[in-house]
Amino acid sequence: MDKPLEAYWALRLSAVAERLAANNFEVHLAADLGSARDHVWSEVIGPMTPCTVSFGGSATLAGSGLVEAVRADPKLTVIDTFDKAATRETILARRREALHADLLLTGTNAITANGQLVNLDMIGNRTGAISFGPRKVVILAGRNKLVADLDTAFRRVKELAAPVNAMRLDKKTPCVKTGVCHDCASPERICNVWSVVEKAYPKGRIRVVLINADLGF
Ligand code: SF4
Repeated sequence: MDKPLEAYWALRLSAVAERLAANNFEVHLAADLGSARDHVWSEVIGPMTPCTVSFGGSATLAGSGLVEAVRADPKLTVIDTFDKAATRETILARRREALHADLLLTGTNAITANGQLVNLDMIGNRTGAISFGPRKVVILAGRNKLVADLDTAFRRVKELAAPVNAMRLDKKTPCVKTGVCHDCASPERICNVWSVVEKAYPKGRIRVVLINADLGF
């Protein structure tokens, strides 16, 4: 075989795409982040013409260019929950408002081989909005988010995603110093709300864009 790694990822991604589709998610396979961005722009945002758009914290989304493209489109109103100039009260009010957005663009912490989405939040606004609220949810996920099962997903999040996100956000938590989760009681603990989405409801409300590249944490 000439390109075994490509063959491996093609098989893994198409298998999980099949499971996600069986769980009522819409699924799109993208070769890279650029084609994922083009797909979301032309196949979701264009036909849907949402009035309001919100974003979940996601390094994959942040690297896609979609946030900038949405912000630059005068037809779209962004509910900005990451505005560093806003007060904490304003941000919390916007996070509640974002639950009513037409469209949520975000990432996921893990996807199991059975096609379940696993996420862990500090506040719960992202896990809440993935579950209910916005009319449409688009999840961008690199192939590195694929895991065998729920136990592996929980481990992946606590051993990798959470400490790295705590570092990204400059939190004052023990994992930032050691790289290991201490199940802390810190006021800045980012690990408070788990969510497992087993099936999309209503069918097709959540679209998962699986990207054949390692992206995010
Ligand atoms: S529980 Fe605390 S120490 Fe563990 S990953 Fe989360 S923030 Fe870090």
